[in-house]
Amino acid sequence: MKIDILTLFPDMFNGFKEESIIKRAIDDKKVKINTINFRDFAKNKHKKVDDTPFGGGAGMVLMCQPIFDAVESVKNKNSKVILLSPQGVPYTQEKAYELSKEKHLILICGHYEGFDERIRTICDEEISIGDYVLTGGEIPAMVIADSVTRLLPGVIEEESHVLDSFNDNLLDYPTYTKPRNYKGLQVPDVLLSGDHARIEKWRKDKRLEVTKEKRPDLLEKESVSKKDEPKKEIVKKSLKKDKKLSGEIEIENKSINKRTGKYILTKTEDINAITIFDPKLVIGYKLKGKKDSKNKNRIVIVKDSFIKKIAMKNLKRKVDLLTYRFNIALSDPNDDDATSRVLGEAEMLKQMIFTMYLKYLGQDNVDKIIKNINALVNEFIRAKTLQNTLIPNLQENKRKM
Ligand code: SAM
Repeated sequence: MKIDILTLFPDMFNGFKEESIIKRAIDDKKVKINTINFRDFAKNKHKKVDDTPFGGGAGMVLMCQPIFDAVESVKNKNSKVILLSPQGVPYTQEKAYELSKEKHLILICGHYEGFDERIRTICDEEISIGDYVLTGGEIPAMVIADSVTRLLPGVIEEESHVLDSFNDNLLDYPTYTKPRNYKGLQVPDVLLSGDHARIEKWRKDKRLEVTKEKRPDLLEKESVSKKDEPKKEIVKKSLKKDKKLSGEIEIENKSINKRTGKYILTKTEDINAITIFDPKLVIGYKLKGKKDSKNKNRIVIVKDSFIKKIAMKNLKRKVDLLTYRFNIALSDPNDDDATSRVLGEAEMLKQMIFTMYLKYLGQDNVDKIIKNINALVNEFIRAKTLQNTLIPNLQENKRKM
């Protein structure tokens, strides 16, 4: 993805681009973030980009010409031009997901009193980051660039953002880390129980409880289960056209998952058993859809066996990655942070398997995989104690899965 930011203050983005996850995403070529000073496009002698408002009034107004020309200089057929403005549509996580599917974003940062109204004519969308007024669009542009970049494949672990607040209109569950007791403040017992089914249930309940308490308005939006349920008429439509069990069929726009732009259905013997396959599971796979991505009235139906295969392949990759990280953590025996990080990752993976994979793989398969991960963890702890530098069973582990 490429993000071009049109601004009068490109230096404001230096720190933003040079730290932490955004820097890594840029270095890894997952995203390209350019700043363009639209003052460079001013045609007058003093490089003036603003003027007083017609009809009088306070402040200076950004002129059309430098902004029109700057947009023109970077725009292509894949560009989405976004105007940052307190009058725009309020920005949400759902919007971030939607934008993360784009190839090229052009973000226009206003400044001073605002911009000439005609600039709106060259923009596809107008976005506000909240009901307050900032001095310029630079911070909103960073908000968008940051929230979109972390959703790009490979920038952070998928499991870190699939359980984030606002996904499915629920806030995240409470998390704790060591120590178990800090100044009398205890970690809930259930999290120390090792009983994954109970932990899972606790987290689910907490998400609801926290959302009810802090953001009851989110619960009034379409609920997860309601949203994920195919509407009746769609099921009928699917059945009519679904002769071959695979291929594209039409569904109505309103039922499209806004985050991904598509639903994936599975079909089983039972007429009521057409279910929506969780698209989050197939991150990293390109599912064939209609070429014209703008026409979102298309879905792909896949067989259960295919879903199982993908889910298994995904998990295999994750367990291999975990083994690799265990080995990295062993390579520096004094790095305790790496040890607790990788053990945390193993816990997270197990939790993810219960949340996302259980329904596709079944209890028996899941039990086997969890057993495999537990064995890996034990081996890691043993190697750590013995100061070994390598877990030998990466290959063996591959065979087991
Ligand atoms: N007079 C304008 C109004 O009331 O709509 C506000 C102009 S503001 C001082 C200058 C610029 O900051 C805006 O053009 C916009 O680009 C940016 N900005 C300020 N608040 C924003 C917000 N909440 N969301 C997005 N952009 C914002």
